[in-house]
Amino acid sequence: MGQVYLTGAGPGDIELLTMKAFRVVKEADVIIYDRLANPDILKEAKNGCEFVYVGKEDGRHIMPQDEINETIYQNALKYENVVRLKGGDPFVFGRGGEEAAYLYERNVGFEIIPGITSAISAPAYAGIPVTHRGVAVSFRVVTGHESPHKETSQIPWDNFKTDDTIVFLMGLHNLSKISQKLMEIGKPADYPCAVISRGTTPEQTVVVGTLSDIVEKAKGVPTPALIIVGQVVKLRKQLHWFGQ
Ligand code: SAH
Repeated sequence: MGQVYLTGAGPGDIELLTMKAFRVVKEADVIIYDRLANPDILKEAKNGCEFVYVGKEDGRHIMPQDEINETIYQNALKYENVVRLKGGDPFVFGRGGEEAAYLYERNVGFEIIPGITSAISAPAYAGIPVTHRGVAVSFRVVTGHESPHKETSQIPWDNFKTDDTIVFLMGLHNLSKISQKLMEIGKPADYPCAVISRGTTPEQTVVVGTLSDIVEKAKGVPTPALIIVGQVVKLRKQLHWFGQ
């Protein structure tokens, strides 16, 4: 029976991989990976390492989660060192918890290797700090996958009236509904927000706007992308550095 490493691949820039992730990738007998994990990481694997793609795009699984869980388990029966490589951090909307629970129930040993999440690193590469003294005392990372107008929405929209930073992951396809909803709860139409696409990679694109014009401005921006809403977005004017 093997050991499974539920490993964060970081947001894109390969140098944002942790040393621990780098080590287990080098020792892996098999690497089970997503689309969001930078494929260059696989080049660090030893000769003969097997690669299993379980494509996952913007929260929509090409392979259903049950099958991914079972694939990891089957590989743990076959190999000693199994790396499950996931974009960003495995526990930030990565369903890493479900995968670990599946292994726990089957008595397979596992370790969690946290990764740098896109939720803070893509803003950092865009020159937007998620907290800033006197501007934002907290930040939230929220799923943008769910339509904000759903009756049964679990998202506490009414708590979003403050100037705390909100980062929406998996939300580009709902951008117009999200910006609409934020204006409905009372945020002004000129409230700052940005869309960051392919953050930390050479293709990073940052679109800065307001709740009322971001939809128009961000048209056609490629995924993966996140939405960041808050006064901190204004700091980009002074703090942008990447690609300079
Ligand atoms: N576990 C991942 C998030 C998985 S959900 C993490 O910690 O980063 C997938 C969503 O993450 C995407 O829909 C997008 O909103 C965001 N995302 C992932 N990589 C990104 C990147 N390089 N730039 C911008 N957003 C990214």
